[in-house]
Amino acid sequence: MMPAIPADIRTPAYVLDLARLKKNLATARRVKAESGCRILLATKAFAMPSAFAIMREVLDGTTASGEYEARMGREEFGKEVHVYAPAYTEEEVRSLVRIADHVYFNSPEQVARFLPIVQAAKGVKAGVRINPGYSNATLGGHLYDPGAPYSRFGTTRAEIDQIPWGAIDIFHAHTLCESLHDGSVGLIEHVAREFAPYIRRVKAVNFGGGHFMNKPGYDIGALIRAIKAFRAAFGVEVILEPGAGLVVDAGYLVASIIGLHRNEKDIAILDASASCHMPDVLEVPYRPPIFDAGEPGEFAHSYILGGKTCMTGDIIGEYSFAKPLAIGDRIVLGDMMQYSFVKNTTFNGTPLPDIGILDEDGSYRVVRNASYDDFRSRIG
Ligand SMILES: *Cc1c(COP(=O)(O)O)cnc(C)c1O
Repeated sequence: MMPAIPADIRTPAYVLDLARLKKNLATARRVKAESGCRILLATKAFAMPSAFAIMREVLDGTTASGEYEARMGREEFGKEVHVYAPAYTEEEVRSLVRIADHVYFNSPEQVARFLPIVQAAKGVKAGVRINPGYSNATLGGHLYDPGAPYSRFGTTRAEIDQIPWGAIDIFHAHTLCESLHDGSVGLIEHVAREFAPYIRRVKAVNFGGGHFMNKPGYDIGALIRAIKAFRAAFGVEVILEPGAGLVVDAGYLVASIIGLHRNEKDIAILDASASCHMPDVLEVPYRPPIFDAGEPGEFAHSYILGGKTCMTGDIIGEYSFAKPLAIGDRIVLGDMMQYSFVKNTTFNGTPLPDIGILDEDGSYRVVRNASYDDFRSRIG
């Protein structure tokens, strides 16, 4: 059903649907309460400080992909800050031990060089990411599978004994991507079966992100049972750090039709761009859902929807509508909170979308006003 977004909002705009976000957070609350795990927000997928007040009520903190996200998590979210990157510079590790509570390393090489910096910092814990040899990513083939052949993520079985496990607090295994419960349960059971001697040496196990817990079809009960069984078997804490799974279907990208064109087919140009504003449409690639639109030919009027950049491939897809599109019409793209605004560019000098919040009472407020400065501030 078309969300009740006020007709007069400035576009393009990302709109967080607060009611939907709260529904997603209720799932996380249940998983935590019934399984006893901790849940962090992976800010890589969704970094929106204006939404953190309500997320903080449920979640235990954030997990970052490097120094800037860690700092943002510390300053804007609070609670626990975890950070992982496939490699750090020494300078970054020295900064991170002042920002983060948990620093995760990728390889024996990084542990050997940087563990002493973590140990010298009071209260900071070290984690190590393992490549558990388990794949379940459902998206984009090898592009989004941390367990793909020759993956640079995580210490492999062959190297695992080079890690000084006695000095490590957290065993980390992130291998899922948009995975349903079979992936979550499969990973947890695989780690229990294959890595028991290492689990017995740590205090916590972090099963990463990719748990698509708010996607229809995800069996929350199965996840809860698997975590409980794991905790009972090993007596360790369990951490999950989903991004997409916490904000899936929690908001939109609202765009306007600003141009109409014909080249054998009807073409509509939007004030938004696949390339700048929904790069995953091109990268994964995938077809974003659009409210009140269908497959080409499903309704009477079909259009290729394109962005306003000069890149030929800046195409969102071909869709059909019940009525012909007109200049000024609004298009509402669904599931646009995860991996959307965090990946934006101003390529072509394209304006960034505003970011706004649709409240449960139907009111709308802009929390970030896009402007020329977004473009200017990134270029020398
Ligand atoms: C990307 C990532 C996440 C979050 O993944 P989602 O698919 O958004 O749930 C969590 N942990 C690590 C290490 C990641 O790289």
